[in-house]
Amino acid sequence: MNFRQRMQQFMYGRNGFDQLGRFLILAALACALLGMLLPRTVYPLFLLLQYAALIYCIFRLLSRNVYQRQRENGWYLKKEQAVMRWFRSLKDRWQQRKEYKFFRCPSCHALLRVPRGKGKLVLTCRKCGNRFERKS
Ligand SMILES: [Zn+2]
Repeated sequence: MNFRQRMQQFMYGRNGFDQLGRFLILAALACALLGMLLPRTVYPLFLLLQYAALIYCIFRLLSRNVYQRQRENGWYLKKEQAVMRWFRSLKDRWQQRKEYKFFRCPSCHALLRVPRGKGKLVLTCRKCGNRFERKS
C-alpha cells in the first residue's frame, strides 16, 4: 500500500477539508501577519488566535462527526454569503452613484434607490410602507 492509499484509508469517514477549513487557514495566516505588523504588546493575542484557528481546523479535518462538521460548514457558508451580498450591494451602489441616490428607510432600514436631480421627493418604503421626504 502506497502513501496515498494509506492517507485515503486514514481519512475515510472523517470530515476532511471544507470551506470553513479554508477560512480558518486564511484567518490563521491573517493573525500571523497582524501579529508581525502590530505592536509587540498585542502579539501574544494574535499568536493565541492563530493557534486556536489552526487547532480547530485540524480538529475539524480529522473529526468523525461529519454531520456536526457539515452543520458548522453550512452555518459558515450562510455568513459568507451574507458578507458577499453586502460587498456586491456596495459595488452596485458605487457603480450607480451618478444616476441614483440611495436612502435608508428610517423605520425599517431598507435601502431605497431614487433617480438623482428630481428635487424634493416623498419616498414610500416598499418594505414597510413608511413615507418620508428626501432631496434627490
Ligand atoms: Zn421601511
